[in-house]
Amino acid sequence: MTTILSTQNIVDNKLEKLAKRVQKLKERTIRPKMKVVLVGENSASLVYVGIKEKTCKKLQCDFELLRLPHDVTRKEFLNEVDSMNNDPSIHGCFVQLPVPEHLQDIDVTSLINPEKDVDGFGGATIVDIYKGKTPFFLPCTPMGVLELLNHNQIEALGKRVVIIGKSLIVGRPLSLLLQNMGATVTVCHSKTQNLESHTLQADIIISAVGSPKFLTKDYFNKDLNQVVIDVGINRDHNGKLCGDVDFENVKNIVSAITPVPGGVGPLTVISLMENLVKSAERATKG
Ligand code: NAD
Repeated sequence: MTTILSTQNIVDNKLEKLAKRVQKLKERTIRPKMKVVLVGENSASLVYVGIKEKTCKKLQCDFELLRLPHDVTRKEFLNEVDSMNNDPSIHGCFVQLPVPEHLQDIDVTSLINPEKDVDGFGGATIVDIYKGKTPFFLPCTPMGVLELLNHNQIEALGKRVVIIGKSLIVGRPLSLLLQNMGATVTVCHSKTQNLESHTLQADIIISAVGSPKFLTKDYFNKDLNQVVIDVGINRDHNGKLCGDVDFENVKNIVSAITPVPGGVGPLTVISLMENLVKSAERATKG
């Protein structure tokens, strides 16, 4: 029988533990604070920022959103990031991506103070992962995927893992983290030929493409008891949220699969909160 890897229980559990840690910080007059800079009106970004704000509030952490107009000057943008980096009341901060075209040549993730890089996209984190060390802040979506595997006792060691998508925020860091855990990892992308020749041999398939129901049942091997982690968040032709995997037609031929919504997405947000609380705790230690 297929296991549906829903994450509500993990999230509730983590929220409860985080609330206790926030309470302890408050007893020492520290209130974790996150600040986000959002440039322009990207509708998906507004939704993501809204979810982060709601989760901060649920945990009684402070949240500040700085909205800048889409035509903000480089100078003003850089000044705002700088002041956020240097504000001691802020424990975690980031620029919500994407930024408008005129700012896209700026390596935005490298601008963030490494002490506050709760997204885990900065150079210090990547270098640690590259060297096989555990960084202080893990990047949130890969951290969520690893938590999902761990919680469900899905061992990566010695497994053949195929990751589809090589973005800097999901596929690349995740591929290194899983290699560090002893998995044999293949990273596929838009130029990969004969994608199914890879997925049909995998023990674990992780998709981060961004294309609704792109992975049909032809990509899966019913004889391998495959585990499917769907990172994609898309809308189908009816406007309904869905993943990269054709869930209804795939769920019966694999051993475990994440739903969308209710899978990796909520774990990404909770990972961000864990990083924020960890950062505030470090600040109390000076
Ligand atoms: P991206 O656009 O940066 O990367 C997409 C990747 O998919 C690229 O590496 C590209 O080469 C690959 N790709 C595109 N078409 C392909 C094809 N036909 N065959 C094989 N590979 C192909 O995207 P991203 O930022 O990594 O996001 C990917 C998806 O994951 C999106 O749906 C996004 O919304 C979602 N996402 C979800 C979470 C979460 O918390 N669940 C977090 C981040 C991103």
